[in-house]
Amino acid sequence: MRVTDVRCHVLLDPGYDVTATSSAQDTIVVEVLTDAGVTGIGETDLNAWVTRACIEAPGTHTMDLGLREMLVGMDPLDPETAWRELYVGSAMSGRRGAVVHALGALDIALWDICGKARGVPCWKLWGEQATDELTPYASLQPEVNSYDEYAESILSWASRAVRLGFRAVKLEATFSGPYRHRGLDEPDERIAEVVTAVRREVGPSVEIMVDVQYAFDSVARALATAERLAEQGVFFLEAPLWADDLDAYGELSRRSPVRIAAGEWLSTRFEHADLMDRGGVQVDQPDVGRVGGLTEARRVCAMAAERGRLVVPHAWKTGISVAVAAQLAAVTPQMPFFEFLPRELCESALRQELVDDGLRYQSGVLGLPERPGIGVELDPDALERFAEAGRRVRGGIYG
Ligand SMILES: [Mg+2]
Repeated sequence: MRVTDVRCHVLLDPGYDVTATSSAQDTIVVEVLTDAGVTGIGETDLNAWVTRACIEAPGTHTMDLGLREMLVGMDPLDPETAWRELYVGSAMSGRRGAVVHALGALDIALWDICGKARGVPCWKLWGEQATDELTPYASLQPEVNSYDEYAESILSWASRAVRLGFRAVKLEATFSGPYRHRGLDEPDERIAEVVTAVRREVGPSVEIMVDVQYAFDSVARALATAERLAEQGVFFLEAPLWADDLDAYGELSRRSPVRIAAGEWLSTRFEHADLMDRGGVQVDQPDVGRVGGLTEARRVCAMAAERGRLVVPHAWKTGISVAVAAQLAAVTPQMPFFEFLPRELCESALRQELVDDGLRYQSGVLGLPERPGIGVELDPDALERFAEAGRRVRGGIYG
């Protein structure tokens, strides 16, 4: 089998708001076509226009080849060889960051082709089933304008999640730093206040995770919050420090009474090795597209297992990313939870409408994916509607 073409769809939620903090307002969907008539689908959590440029840019010399140009003609049934050739061939522009995130979308599409060609879900291509069911956690990220609105909204979202059967929730409690929610600028003590109120609402048996999205500029601030959160039995504290402050992560991970989690922005196993070894995090959070696709995400899971760390992947895009994370969760025993937002709790039109992710949610758990490949079905009408919204954006080189 050979790859015959790569199509990039730049998609945008027509109601997008550049002041919102969610990255689920635009996406790139890639389709990898083959001479056998099997088509693979992939996605990555990177600006859709940037991703398209990374894939479609023509090569100019042997160490800076175009991803699309290289992939056409390759054997899609050997994603690991394709990964190595694309990674090495794009090295002068890539090795880390955007080009590797774009490579991730292509790698996911190749694994989708492998599963579809064999008629099995991707996880069955990888060996041992780790579990009979997946335990999702609900990420709660209210878009609000004031602390009072936030506190009210997060409580009602948390209780809705528990009514829907969720056994774990993650609160995006970001009141300072670059990612802070619109209109919020609150002292650090507010984080524990909110968590205490949510704990009272959901009871002792629901796991609570807290994501502060790079809020703290020192280990001392992060540690003070971690100590307050420990009193509420928080499962992990996510992204307390800036992504590049690995030595600070190392110190915090050693001293914190709560597990420290990070890794959503990183690319390649090499960056995740640094995060675990120098940064010392107890919970690694690769985003499957951004890390470089399923090929690289599986390597990161193996590295985490060797080091006795947990993996809780980041998946905040459309149902494609969610379905892909579910494939990984099926074969990863050290993955206690998996990010999944049911349509009822989600504000993203792309997440709601673009694909049927094939995942069956019932009473707090998801069954293992059963459809061939990554298991998603694109809605062609939604694809066209979001592509049209993307085409309407003018400016820069696409103006
Ligand atoms: Mg996060």
